[in-house]
Amino acid sequence: MLTTPTSTDYLEPFTAAFDAQRRNAPRMALTTAAERIERIRRIQRWVVAHETDIKQAMYADFRKPSAEVMLGELMALNAEIRHTVSNLKRWMKPQRVPTPLSMIGTTSRIHHEPKGNVLIIAPWNYPFVLSMRPLVSALAAGNVVIIKPSELTPHTAALISGMIAELFPPDEVTVFEGDAAVSTALLDLPFNHIFFTGSPAVGRIVMTAAAKHLASVTLELGGKSPAIVDESADLQQAAGQLVWGKCLNNGQTCIAPDYLLVHASVKVPLMDAMKKTLDRMYSPDGQPVAASDSYARIVNRSHFRRIKNLIEDALTKGATITLGGQTNEADNFIEPTFLENVTDDMRIMQDEIFGPVLPVLTYRTLDDALRIVNQREKPLALYIHSRNRQHTQYIIDRTSAGDTVVNDVLLHFGHVELPFGGVNNSGLGKSNGFFSFQEFSNQRGILKRQFGTLKFLYPPYTDRVKNAIDFLVRHF
Ligand code: NAD
Repeated sequence: MLTTPTSTDYLEPFTAAFDAQRRNAPRMALTTAAERIERIRRIQRWVVAHETDIKQAMYADFRKPSAEVMLGELMALNAEIRHTVSNLKRWMKPQRVPTPLSMIGTTSRIHHEPKGNVLIIAPWNYPFVLSMRPLVSALAAGNVVIIKPSELTPHTAALISGMIAELFPPDEVTVFEGDAAVSTALLDLPFNHIFFTGSPAVGRIVMTAAAKHLASVTLELGGKSPAIVDESADLQQAAGQLVWGKCLNNGQTCIAPDYLLVHASVKVPLMDAMKKTLDRMYSPDGQPVAASDSYARIVNRSHFRRIKNLIEDALTKGATITLGGQTNEADNFIEPTFLENVTDDMRIMQDEIFGPVLPVLTYRTLDDALRIVNQREKPLALYIHSRNRQHTQYIIDRTSAGDTVVNDVLLHFGHVELPFGGVNNSGLGKSNGFFSFQEFSNQRGILKRQFGTLKFLYPPYTDRVKNAIDFLVRHF
């Protein structure tokens, strides 16, 4: 693992790896769909053969339950691989486009060419899938790739390093483990595309660095994703979904419902249903949540303290805990916690929580709820729980979000036909299936003249030429 550098010698391995990949990029660009699929299948086979190692690495990192590794990481990765393998040949085919009248005599198509040298910077919360899914798409598009996994999940980062070294020559794909210093060194290199998953704050740093080389970026960021529950919602169903969405991965999910906006008339029954759901999920035999092996932990001490400080700041400013509140620093354990009487001046209503703490706000009119949503940055996800179609459409029409799920949570991440991602502060660019393939490709327009000429428009601009131009401008 590399740490903060003391001299410029540390740049040498990054530059050498980058240059080797740059020399190899033209060869990778010429690979056929079958060759790219073969590379992707290597990943698939490795994952099947090392499922236990993958689960152990993430358990060692933050006690991620193996069922959540399967559900949150491997299911989404497998779906992406299967979808890419089935569709890649079609995606790679030049796409014919219609010819407008003004272009008569030509034919045109769109060719997806690889961007070239690609950098993937991954976060720690879903450390395997958020490195591997972009890798699958980058390879599908014919790129060479450097991956920088998160230093906060070192077991998974080491697993990824070993896996990639086993599966790919370093001039095709390679991994650099390490912290922000390693990212900073890599970001100095003239990558063609940077795919970053992480916080909006670091996203800004990445985009600034990318600007130096005018590298394109995909930024998969985070933020405060609201869940709105109206008076018509199926409360039992919403309770189960919200508790699951909030507590999966111990709340450390970019698209977890961050705060709840519930219609005042259904708050009490919803909260009752959520409390019962929590008991069923994490204390089925009456044992404390801390004893449940279905409940992961906060990734490290500093994140534990960050979340604890958010709770304490809220309590100092008048919030009340209506459920949970137990913590254990030695174990980075935070019980599922509901906070009520929260206000905008509390940091818990400003920062992304990224932990199992749910601020609960009530509203009386939809416009009141939308004001709370719209005074914040555009969220990565917005959840609506409602059986009223007018309410649902009203909310969609008057808000902006990366994605929206109605009457469920989180599922869109694994939907290979939907563009996944944020908008502005929650992200730039989209991923999943063809959207990821596009993100890693330059869409090159190719126009070919088949017959005819435009030479009747060329200078000198005689009256005849000018009349012809006038005619074209008016009629085509
Ligand atoms: P982070 O931004 O702290 O770190 C992400 C990566 O950037 C890590 O590899 C880290 O080493 C690197 N990094 C950290 N500081 C850097 C710097 N100054 N310069 C360059 N690189 C730097 O994010 P995190 O804590 O790992 O992940 C949590 C965040 O990621 C949350 O905001 C969450 O919502 C977001 N997230 C988004 C998605 C998505 O798909 N949109 C998925 C998972 C997580």
